[in-house]
Amino acid sequence: MFNIIIFGPPGAGKGTQSAKLLDKYNLTHLSTGDVFRSNIKGETELGLLAKSYIDKGELVPDEVTIAMVKDFVQQHADSTGFIFDGFPRTISQGEALSEILAEHNEKIDIVLALEVDEDELVKRLLERGKISGRADDQDEGTIRNRFKEYLNKTEPLLDFYRNKNLLHSVQGMGSIDDIFNRLVQEVDSVKA
Ligand code: AMP
Repeated sequence: MFNIIIFGPPGAGKGTQSAKLLDKYNLTHLSTGDVFRSNIKGETELGLLAKSYIDKGELVPDEVTIAMVKDFVQQHADSTGFIFDGFPRTISQGEALSEILAEHNEKIDIVLALEVDEDELVKRLLERGKISGRADDQDEGTIRNRFKEYLNKTEPLLDFYRNKNLLHSVQGMGSIDDIFNRLVQEVDSVKA
């Protein structure tokens, strides 16, 4: 397996770049945000619970999110690798992910961190909200709260992965293709 984490603040382009990376490297995509949204649509118990957090721009509790990821990895154990998009978002989730993969004799191979400045992020999110219909992209208060959560809970993961020598930061400004080429360069630098 070759396992990638795509990391960055809300609006950094994780979803867009994941789609291109999946195509190129033939990986399995796990976007925890997408899984929550499909559960909300299907009105499942998990969806109902997740919605109460997502609508406020808060993170869904770790135990719920980790159990979901564990289940997903189990169900796709024969995959050639994963792209984790929007997970992990806390140190506990990062630790849990290492354990989940270790149970399959696997590990994270690279963490790609997209760097985008905050003014650009808010602009992108509000634009996306007009097209995607995502409620959490349409309200500036919710967006601001998502950044707060990112800074408090998610950003510390940068050091967590830097210390493991897995962190590769990439400039996330510019055209989609330029950013993609930078990501590919980083992946190919570690992929045998
Ligand atoms: P995303 O699609 O990645 O922007 O996620 C949308 C929302 O889903 C986030 O603002 C969180 O409320 C929730 N969410 C997604 N991934 C996670 C995660 N790993 N941990 C906790 N909450 C998450």
